[in-house]
Formats: sequence, C-alpha cells, structure tokens
Amino acid sequence: MSARGRYPLIVVGAGHAGCEAACIAAAMGVEVALVTMSLDAIAQMSCNPAIGGLAKGHLVREIDALGGIMARMADGAGIQFKMLNRARGPAVWSPRAQEDKAFYREIVRARLERTPGLNLLQAQVTGFLTRQGRLHGVALKDGSEVECDAVIVTPGTFMNGLMHVGDRTVAGGRVGEAPSRGLSECLAELGFRVLRLKTGTPPRIHRDSIDFTRMTEQPGDDPPRPFSHFTRSLDVDQIMCHLTHTTSATHDLIRSNLHRSPLYTGKIRGIGPRYCPSIEDKVVRFAEKASHQIFIEPEGRRTHEFYINGLSTSLPEEIQLRMLRTIPGLEEVEMIRPGYAVEYDFVPPTQLLPTLETRAVGGLYLAGQINGTSGYEEAAAQGLFAGINAALRIQGRAPMRLGREEAYLAVLIDDLVSKGTEEPYRMFTSSAEYRLLLRQDNAIDRLLGRARELGTLDADDLALAEERIAERGRATRLLHTVKINLEETVSRSADTDETHRGSTRSGRDRAPNEKPDASTLAHLLCNGSLSLEALLDRTELADLARETLESAAIEVRYEGYIRRQRREVERAVRYENLQLVDSLWEEPLLELSREGREKLRKIRPGTVGQAARVPGVSPADAAVLVIYGERERRRASLAATPS
Ligand SMILES: Cc1cc2nc3c(=O)[nH]c(=O)nc-3n(C[C@H](O)[C@H](O)[C@H](O)COP(=O)(O)OP(=O)(O)OC[C@H]3O[C@@H](n4cnc5c(N)ncnc54)[C@H](O)[C@@H]3O)c2cc1C
Repeated sequence: MSARGRYPLIVVGAGHAGCEAACIAAAMGVEVALVTMSLDAIAQMSCNPAIGGLAKGHLVREIDALGGIMARMADGAGIQFKMLNRARGPAVWSPRAQEDKAFYREIVRARLERTPGLNLLQAQVTGFLTRQGRLHGVALKDGSEVECDAVIVTPGTFMNGLMHVGDRTVAGGRVGEAPSRGLSECLAELGFRVLRLKTGTPPRIHRDSIDFTRMTEQPGDDPPRPFSHFTRSLDVDQIMCHLTHTTSATHDLIRSNLHRSPLYTGKIRGIGPRYCPSIEDKVVRFAEKASHQIFIEPEGRRTHEFYINGLSTSLPEEIQLRMLRTIPGLEEVEMIRPGYAVEYDFVPPTQLLPTLETRAVGGLYLAGQINGTSGYEEAAAQGLFAGINAALRIQGRAPMRLGREEAYLAVLIDDLVSKGTEEPYRMFTSSAEYRLLLRQDNAIDRLLGRARELGTLDADDLALAEERIAERGRATRLLHTVKINLEETVSRSADTDETHRGSTRSGRDRAPNEKPDASTLAHLLCNGSLSLEALLDRTELADLARETLESAAIEVRYEGYIRRQRREVERAVRYENLQLVDSLWEEPLLELSREGREKLRKIRPGTVGQAARVPGVSPADAAVLVIYGERERRRASLAATPS
C-alpha cells in the first residue's frame, strides 16, 4: 500500500457539507485534505437551482455568521433574490436566492483553491483505517492510503447510489456520476446501522420551447437583499421566474401510468422526502387537488436549460414528455434531461454524538445527506458544525455545543442525534420552539460571539459585523426617542391613500381643541398605530439601512413576546444543562417507563434536555431524569469540594 501522506483532517466528498467542513477547519488553522471523486462537481446543486427558502434561509445566515461560505457564494452566483413569507410574522420570513448553478460551482471551487491549508484531492475513498477502535486514516480506490487524526464523511446521495427512470435503473449518485462503493460496507463492519433513503428530481427543459406568455411572472425583490452579513452591496440584474400549474389531464396521465413508476412498482425500497414529494405522490396523496403549482426556473444565465420546480418524477421518459405537454405554457416543450429518482445508503444519526462524531469510532464524523437529511442548506450546516468540532478535537479544545435557543443549527443537530429520522429530514420554522428568538435577521447577534471564540471571521468581517450591530442599536434608540404627532402626520399626508393613513392613525378620536400628544415611534409600533412599512418611509430615519431599521423595529414591536420566550428559555436551560453521565444508562432505571428506558439506553443522551426530547420518553420520565441530573450535580459538587 503506498501512503499518500498525512493530514490532520480528511473530508470525504466536496458537496455542500464537505466544502463547509473543509473551509471552516482550514479557517481554524487545521490542515485539511478534501478528497472528492470529481473536482468538476464541487458544490454541484443536484436538484433545484436555489439556496435558502423556508427555515433553510435561516440556516444559511447562521452558517454565514459562524464564518461559513454558503451565503457569500449564494450572493456571488445569485440571479434572483426574494424574502419568502413576508405576509406572515417576521419569525418566519426566509431569504431565498435563485442561483446560476455553473457559476456557483466555479466560485466555490475558486474559494477552496485559495483557502490556505485546504488541499483538494481527486480520488474515491473506499474505507477507513482503524486500530483499537480509533481511526487513523482512509483507503483510496487506487490502493493508496492517507493517514490522519480525524475524518468527516460527507458522501451525500452517493453511497451505493441507484438511479431510476421508469423501469430503467443505473448505478450512480447523480446523473452522469458514479456511485460510491465500499463506504457503506466499511461502516457496517464497524458496527453502524446503514439504511436506505430516496429522493428525486424533475426533468430539465429547453428555454426556447417554453411559452412564457401562458405563465405568471415571478420577479425578485426590489431592491434585492444579500444573503451574507458580509456582502456590502448587491448589484445584480435579476432574472424572471414563472409560475404555471398541472391540470386534470396531467393528473389523469400520471394516474394511468403509476404502474410504470418505480415508486409504485416497489422497485424503490428507500423512503422518500415527505415534504418534497414526487408529482406521483402529490397526485395520489392529494387526489382532491385540481392542480399543483409548478415554478419554471433558469438553471443559470448562460444556459438554455430550465428547471421545473415541483415536478420531481421517475416515470418513464416518454410519459414525462407527455405529462409536461399537458401543462399551460409547456404544450410544445422539448425535454433536455428526464427526471429521475435516486436511492442511497444513509446512517441513522442517533449513532452520533452531539458533535456529529460517531459514538462507535473516535475521530470519525458524519455530515450531510448521509445523516438522513435532504437539502443543500441542512448539509452545509452539518458540514460546518462537524468541521468546527473536528478542528477543536484536533487542537485539543473543548467541543462546541449550541442550545436550541441559540440557532436552527442546534435544532437540526439535536433533532438528528436525539430523535433520529426514518425519512429525509428537512428543516422547518415549526421545528424550532423558540423561533421568535431565531429570526433570520438576528443570526449575527446570536452567533458572532461564537465566531470570535473560534477565530473563524477575519478582522474586517468582525469589524463589519460589529458595525452592523452598533447601527442596529442606534436604530433601536431612535425608535424609543423620536416622537411624532400622529394627527399632524395624518393631516400633512391627508392626500395619501387610505392604506398609509390607516398605518398612522392613532386609533382614537380627539376633542377639537385637545393638543395631540406626541408618541415615540416605538410606542406607535407596539400599539399598532404605525406599520412597519410606514416606519421604513419616515424621513427621520432615512440614513438607516432598511434591513437595520426593520430588524430593530421587529425587536421593539415583538418585545413582549420575545421577553416571554426568553423566560421560557431560562426555565428550560436549567434542565437542559443538567448532565447525565454515560454510566447512568447501565443502571436498572426502574423508575422510567419501559419504552423510555429502551430508547434512552440506545441514544445515551448527555443532558436531561436532550434525554427529554428522545421519542418515547414521557413527561413522567423527564421528571425522573431531572432527579437523576440533580443527583449527578450534587455528586459532582461534592467531589469538587476539598475534603
Ligand atoms: C436526484 C437528486 C434530487 C435531489 N432533490 C433534492 C430536492 O429536491 N431538495 C433538496 O433539498 N435536496 C435534494 N437533493 C439532495 C441534495 O442534493 C443534497 O441534500 C445535498 O447535495 C447534500 O449535500 P452533501 O454535501 O451531503 O452531499 P452531495 O452534495 O451529494 O455531495 C457529496 C459529494 O461527495 C462525493 N463523494 C461521495 N462518495 C465519495 C467517496 N467515497 N470518495 C470521495 N468523494 C465522494 C460526491 O462525488 C459528491 O461530490 C437531491 C439530490 C439528488 C441526487
């Protein structure tokens, strides 16, 4: 066996998880080898040409605040920017950007190549080298080996990947790319449970064969807002997306061909993503719906290839084309590539510690789709977290743990390692019990301190982040000090439309000679007399960036709710941090329910909070766990008291 040298850290797979893991570890000063099967597929978007979306956008901004790259790359290759969910409360506003896929790959690769301490290697990892349960390297397909202290495995949908179109199956992790062989078997030999999942993708079509006049335009926001806290300005010529829909003819065609879909013939064993169903699943599960929305999105600026969001399918190719031509605007469409489903191996994530290191093998970390998630953003978030913790381990520093009240990233990791997943997991705002604290607009406030401790932001970025936080503080002070006279405002703008007047009305009539009292902007925001839109147009605040003012206004307007959530956090954190030693799970634990005992012994959580969230643990079990935790705390404090 020839040795290919040694690196403290090896990352397997340059997808969204692997790129974040390698970059952040290198930023922390750890030498990294990023080994991937094709350097031309670095950061490839296997499916939709977009970053962000509901709750996913929150993850991207948290990755950014901690020093990760996805948000910056999304700004660099972004071709349309939108804030989703604006019609609902600010806790669920979510940034999303359409991306030029080819350019995104290009700028990520350029970023990796100019990252000091990050070494790119084109090779396939086929196994792990261990000695007495400790990992010390990886084996490559060409028979060589690379020694290391830690490995982060991020193989995505490639482990024994198998693609399906109708009754055709092809081995591969993604169209045109070979599967990854050997890793699943090696993990199984090391004692890991390895199961099967599936996901799918829609056909791609030719721009010149689309009749956009029969669709509804879907423009980006004006002005567009950058994803990254460190993008000072965004000067982008935004492209248009379009909206159309399936018809009863589409649904009839699908229903009469279900027997030819591998999903329904039983050929596909893996469980698919509930919240990203194929169009076959939609037609079967929501039979009462007359149509389903379909978004037509360009794959980039310099290609005529278009993506059909919402039409993932593995029906036979000829059926896919007939199906497309039942959709308004696609009557003459030409299909460039068929949609397909891909099955792949994954490792149930309850086999991981909260640092994403595996329980069974020290120094072996798993991140991304291999842990049962689906989505570029969920993968990138795990890659960042595993990269940070692997680097800390190599540097002999304490691991990073985040609380569910600090970040969606923490919710993601905790859900995976405490609850596990039987189907592809994706993030939702409803997954976070403290979502009003975890808004997309305050990620930098929540995580800047962590980034400073880790050293993952350079001096310029730190200065810019502190400048933005200071600016927000100034905006908040102005909201509490600037006073306005509502009547004067209303009379001065008497000719404004009803909507504007409605937003500044004081809400009560006044005696003719009674002097209208002035109120602060904060007061008017809180009692609903002043809308967020009206506030953003006030001249007194004209020198503040809209995003800064908006974030300050949200904090002011929802102050009461935020204070209540912080009190809930204080109560929960008391138990959250009650430690449970690993030896506890060997005890009889007769006070716990049988199911709670079984589940807890399998997952072996380290804190009462994590234990209480394990599925099958009842509130009565949780109360017993608090007693165990308190007992442990007393033992620890006695042991620490000098005799
Ligand atoms: C057909 C398809 C449809 C999808 N549809 C959706 C969707 O609708 N919505 C959604 O959110 N997500 C979807 N995904 C999933 C999305 O692509 C993944 O969530 C995301 O890319 C996962 O990132 P990752 O870093 O874990 O893995 P990937 O991005 O898949 O990257 C894995 C990388 O590891 C490399 N690799 C694998 N094994 C080895 C090895 N042994 N040695 C060296 N390198 C290796 C691969 O070449 C690849 O570059 C889809 C994926 C596919 C393939």
